[in-house]
Amino acid sequence: MGESVSIPVQLAWFVATVLFITALRQLSSPVKARKGIWVAGAGMVLALGSMLFHPELTANHGLILIAVISGALLSIVHARRVDMTRMPQMIALYNGLGGLAAAGVATLVLLHVSRYGAAPKALATLGALIGCVAFAGSIFAFLRLNGFFNSEQGFAKRQVAYLANGALVMLLGLILATSSTAHPVLLLVFVALAMSFGVLMTLPTSAADMPVLISFYNALTGLAVAFDGFVIDNPAMVVAGTIVFAAGSLLTRLMARAVNRRLSEIMYSGFGMSTDEDGAQARKDHVNTIDSRDAAVDMAYARRVVIVPGYGMATAQAQHKLRELTQLLDERGVETSFAIHPVAGRMPGHMNVLLAEAGVPYEKIQDLSQINAEFSEVDVAMVVGANDIVNPAALVDSESPLFGMPILEVDNAKRVIVLKRGDGTGYAGVENPLLFAPVTRVLFGDARESVQDLIMSIKSLD
Ligand code: NDP
Repeated sequence: MGESVSIPVQLAWFVATVLFITALRQLSSPVKARKGIWVAGAGMVLALGSMLFHPELTANHGLILIAVISGALLSIVHARRVDMTRMPQMIALYNGLGGLAAAGVATLVLLHVSRYGAAPKALATLGALIGCVAFAGSIFAFLRLNGFFNSEQGFAKRQVAYLANGALVMLLGLILATSSTAHPVLLLVFVALAMSFGVLMTLPTSAADMPVLISFYNALTGLAVAFDGFVIDNPAMVVAGTIVFAAGSLLTRLMARAVNRRLSEIMYSGFGMSTDEDGAQARKDHVNTIDSRDAAVDMAYARRVVIVPGYGMATAQAQHKLRELTQLLDERGVETSFAIHPVAGRMPGHMNVLLAEAGVPYEKIQDLSQINAEFSEVDVAMVVGANDIVNPAALVDSESPLFGMPILEVDNAKRVIVLKRGDGTGYAGVENPLLFAPVTRVLFGDARESVQDLIMSIKSLD
C-alpha cells in the first residue's frame, strides 16, 4: 500500500506527526495547553484530509466528508454544552468511540484477510481485540458514571466469567490471526466476546476509581490505533496512536499513584460512594464555625496563606474570586500560594486549568511534595471546596477507603479555614476528621460567595 502513496500525502502525514508531537509538549503545560489543543486539532484535520487523496481510497468521498463534518459539528456542540464536572463521562464516551473506530478498521482487515501477511493479520487481531475492549469498557464506564448499573455484586462468579471469556477470546483470536480465509461468523463472536470482556473488566470498578480506568482505556485505544496504522500502512495513525498510548499509560500510572493504588486494585475495588447520614448530622453539630469577618482578619494579618482548591471550587466557579483575594492579600504583604493535589477535582489537571483560566501566575502554584514540608510554617491554610484530598484519615485510619492516599497535610498549619456549603462529604463519601480538628474553622456557604465576602471584609479593614 505504501509505494502508491503520493509525496504530498506523505508530506501531510509528516507535518501531522510533527503537529501531534508539538501539541503533546504544549499540553503538558497549563499555560500552553489551550494552544496545544488547537495544534493537535490542526494535525488531525491534516491527517484526515490527506486520506481523501489516498490512491487506494475508493469509497465515496462525499459520504466521508458528510460523516466527518457531522461528527465534528456534533462534538463541538456537545463539548460547548458539557459541564466541567461531567468531563470524565465525556472523555469516556469519546474514547469509547475512538476504540470502536479502531476496532472497525481492524475488523475490516480481518474480513479481507487473504490480502494480508502474517504480521498484519496478528496486529489486526490485536487491534480488533483491544479496540473492542476499550469501546465496551469506556461506554460501560460512561453509563456507570451517569448512574446506570451501580451494582458491584457477585464478584466470585464474575471472576470465573472473566477468565472463561478471556480464554475464549484468545482462542478465537489465535484462529483468526492464523487463518488465510475470512471467517465472518467467528469474527462476529470474537468481537462480541471482546466487548463482553471490556464490560467484565469495568464491572467491579467503583465510580470513584472510574477515571483511572478510563485513562487506561484511553491508552488501549491509542494502542489499537497504532496497530491499525501498521496494518494499513498509515504513519500518522502509528504516531498518533503511540502518543495516545504513551500519554494514556503515563497518566494512568500518575493517577493511580496519586491515590496510592495499583491498577489491579482499582479494577477489583468497591471504594466509597456511600454517604453516612448520621455522620453527616454529627459533623454540622460539632464543627467549629467562623464567619467571613473573622476569617478575613485571620488572613489579612497572616504572614503566609496557602489556598487548597478542590472540586467545590470548580462547582462554585470561585477561581476568579480567589485570584482577586490573593492579589488583595499580596498587596497587604501577605505571602500567598495555591497547593494543588494531583487528584483534586474530577479530572487530571482540573485545578491547574481553572487557576490558569483565572490568571493565577504559575509560580504561585505548589505541588503536594513541595508544600507538605512547609505547612507547619503556614499561618492560614484555606481549603476551598476540597475534602478527600485533605482528609487525615488517609494517613492514619487503615479502615478508611482513602487509607494510603497521599494528602495535602493542611492540619499542620496554624489555622485551617474550610469553605463548604453544608454536610456534604467528599467523593469517597467518608467522614473527614479535619473538620473537627482544634485548628479548623468552617466557613459555611457557597465558595464563590464566601470568597466574595472575604474580599469585602478585607477591604473594609483599611
Ligand atoms: P471532594 O469531592 O472530596 O470534596 C468536595 C467538597 O467540596 C465537599 O466537601 C463539598 O462539601 C464541597 N463543595 C461542593 N460544592 C461546593 C460549593 N459550591 N461551595 C463550597 N464547597 C463546595 O473533592 P476533592 O477535590 O477534595 O477530592 C477529589 C476526589 O475526587 C478524590 O476522592 C479523587 O480521588 C476523586 N476523583 C478525582 C479525579 C481527578 O482526576 N482529579 C477524577 C475522579 C474522581 P459540601 O457539599 O458540604 O459543600
